[in-house]
Amino acid sequence: MPSINGGCLCGKIRYSAEAGPAFVGLCHRHDCQKFTGSAFSTVIGLPKASVTVTGTLKGFTKLGDSGKPIERRFCPDCGAAILDECEAMPGIVMIAAGTLDDPSWLKPAAQSYCASAQPWVELGGQMKRFEHAPE
Ligand SMILES: [Zn+2]
Repeated sequence: MPSINGGCLCGKIRYSAEAGPAFVGLCHRHDCQKFTGSAFSTVIGLPKASVTVTGTLKGFTKLGDSGKPIERRFCPDCGAAILDECEAMPGIVMIAAGTLDDPSWLKPAAQSYCASAQPWVELGGQMKRFEHAPE
């Protein structure tokens, strides 16, 4: 697997990670649709200690289904969604996969919140499906 590097649209935010992903998954949750401006989010879960971010992100925090906060961070200049951290998953940073420099290796293993997926979304592959949060 290539090293994990990426950044926002305008280039002011850059990140890199020295570890392999803990997971790669999709989320159809409505909040994830709002955050990404797309039908679902694709995220790479990484150990927080392995991720280095340069540039200053802006954050927005809202409670998730777990009742615990999810902090979503984005570039204040170009608005690109970069990462989110969920208190329900301590020590994990979820990078927005669309911001990778090289996304060619991505193979999402699971999709969550399928109950709120857009009805026209049909995805191939062998992903595990969760109606709500992954168990
Ligand atoms: Zn930017």
